[in-house]
Amino acid sequence: MPELPEVETVVRSLAERVSGQAIREASFTSKRVTRQGFAATSKALRGAVIQKMERRGKHILIHLDRGLLHIHLGMTGKLLWNAETTPYTRAVIKLANAILVYDDVRQFGRVEFYSTIPKNIAELGPEPLDIGFEEFEKRLHARGLRVKALLLDQRFLAGVGNIYADEALFAAGIHPSTPANRLSRKRARTLYDSIRRILELAISLRGSSISDYVDGSGARGEFQTLHQVYGRTGLPCARCGQPIRRIVIAQRGTHFCRACQRL
Ligand SMILES: [Zn+2]
Repeated sequence: MPELPEVETVVRSLAERVSGQAIREASFTSKRVTRQGFAATSKALRGAVIQKMERRGKHILIHLDRGLLHIHLGMTGKLLWNAETTPYTRAVIKLANAILVYDDVRQFGRVEFYSTIPKNIAELGPEPLDIGFEEFEKRLHARGLRVKALLLDQRFLAGVGNIYADEALFAAGIHPSTPANRLSRKRARTLYDSIRRILELAISLRGSSISDYVDGSGARGEFQTLHQVYGRTGLPCARCGQPIRRIVIAQRGTHFCRACQRL
């Protein structure tokens, strides 16, 4: 699933191109992706002018002169500039000289119009690259949840998902089952620094392309080549040589090294 670095990369590849453009026409074909009715959504978007495109957590927000076009890439969503439509095209947004095509094989994504910011966006936690350490530590110590589960909670921090939670915990040498409120200040600091360093590095490499993810021009990311634990079950740990283990936390496969991340 695209996480903060992937969504940031998509937004960076498109934001300047779409800014200031009027939507001429918008069409939709998936009731799973666009739940508010195709005709009503098209009508709301027709003629609207795009003021700004930005990322918030794993969400793409296209601010209009009236309301908001919200896009979540789900598992397999792609938002593409001037691409050909395919059998998996679920939305087409026509601009003056270009089209934005939303493709989504598995249809876990969303493309919806809202007149005001929806509740799930309003309730997102702080951005990991913006939050200060004091606030991060306060939020971390407020919860007894296992730290991996807490990192996946979008109300705790917005944008970290399975890949970057596993990679950050490995970098920090923290076992994913450690209760968040038992992390010392020093280890909380290491985790805070690791999350930020890994997200920044992943953004600089345009995200991780595991399966479907590409940016707005169709280009793949490269951070997957630097994954230390995610998707590496049974392979040797780069630090100690022990095999990477996989356990399930919060219903998500969790990858870690038992020797480098002790409970
Ligand atoms: Zn190891």
